[in-house]
Amino acid sequence: MQAYSSARDEFEGMAPVMLDANENSLGSVGPDNFSRYPDPHQRAIKADLATLKGVSPDQIFLGNGSDEAIDLLVRLTCTPGQDSIAICPPTYGMYEVAANLNDVRIERLPLTPDFQLPANAPAILAASQAKLVFLCSPNNPTGNLLAQEAIETILANFRGLVIVDEAYADFADAPSWITRLAEFPRLVVMQTFSKAWGLAGLRLGVAYASPALIGYLNKIKPPYNISAATQQHALAALANAPQLPEMRAELLQGREWLGAQLTQLPIVEHIFPSDANFLLVRFRVDATATYDALSSRGIVVRNRTSQPGCAGCLRLTVGTAAENVQLVQALAEIGSQNPVA
Ligand SMILES: *Cc1c(COP(=O)(O)O)cnc(C)c1O
Repeated sequence: MQAYSSARDEFEGMAPVMLDANENSLGSVGPDNFSRYPDPHQRAIKADLATLKGVSPDQIFLGNGSDEAIDLLVRLTCTPGQDSIAICPPTYGMYEVAANLNDVRIERLPLTPDFQLPANAPAILAASQAKLVFLCSPNNPTGNLLAQEAIETILANFRGLVIVDEAYADFADAPSWITRLAEFPRLVVMQTFSKAWGLAGLRLGVAYASPALIGYLNKIKPPYNISAATQQHALAALANAPQLPEMRAELLQGREWLGAQLTQLPIVEHIFPSDANFLLVRFRVDATATYDALSSRGIVVRNRTSQPGCAGCLRLTVGTAAENVQLVQALAEIGSQNPVA
């Protein structure tokens, strides 16, 4: 297919008189001027990100959240009503939604009880016709990194794209799979500004891959998928990148504190090890009742009881120090009202 050629593709930059895109040259209604279409190739952000991540700008795709990248990867590779993708539940729900929306079948390779890839995953994938596999590491909702060797074996044996979703990589003590892109032409690494960067409201997700694959994603994306407001704020955030390790350290401290407190509570059965900014916790008491009791105290967590392998589990995001205290106090109260038999 021929990609849409936007006004900003045919003329780059600014001229004194810009009458090519039917914009409003008088300015904008409202306090800020957003009358001009944004750079469709987001060159400024990609230049900064390339430096930060040690890749070349043509290895970077920017999406309206990672969710746009997930959808575009499915649409790029799959013919509706015919093809399939592979996922490893329990995992992030958007992979399945993107497949369903695009009439693409789902092959499920459930994780083991400790939420690692099963030993036969590489063999199953090697024999699979799936166009891509989503591997989420650290995984949501379980929090753990997937073992490096298992991912390497899949990269060596699977014919489709291997997408490693690193939304929580900033919290993990492991090198990013971005460092392995040169070795594996079918590897795609997804990251996001929504978690450690604290910019979920902006909607900015990133996919890193070979220049060839990035070229295809750019061809099928909506031309102006990253708004001018998002581009401006993302640039400001990148200029403040040194703040990121401070925030990360504070959240990791919060995670350690929360974990230590939760182990003292009789209603808590197990806290799964986490490389992310949340804890998956299995309760000895009814987890849905616990969810409701927290909710009635104004504390909202994520009920994951119906996810495969997550019976009795709630996912608790690490908050501010004060929020973490409130959560632990509320759970202690709830426990004292529902003593474990
Ligand atoms: C939160 C999250 C994302 C982020 O999605 P955005 O659309 O960038 O906000 C991606 N993948 C996983 C696994 C997540 O948990």
